[in-house]
Amino acid sequence: MTARKPDPARLDAIVARARAESEARQRGYRERALKLYPWVCGRCGRSFDRGNLHELTVHHRNHDHDDNPEDGSNWELLCS
Ligand SMILES: [Zn+2]
Repeated sequence: MTARKPDPARLDAIVARARAESEARQRGYRERALKLYPWVCGRCGRSFDRGNLHELTVHHRNHDHDDNPEDGSNWELLCS
């Protein structure tokens, strides 16, 4: 009897695809949130421009990164 071994190449492909999908989702909601809201930190009120926008993160109010309603109600912009 042969042990069932996972095929490493196949696992790599699955992991790579999951990562790519997660990154695409990440970019998607970040862009949407930045279009929807003014570039101001919701906690400290600091404002951002194109030069430091990477320090502004999109926070999920309910901590579920897959919960991205169209109206942006689950997002909050916070400085990192
Ligand atoms: Zn802040």
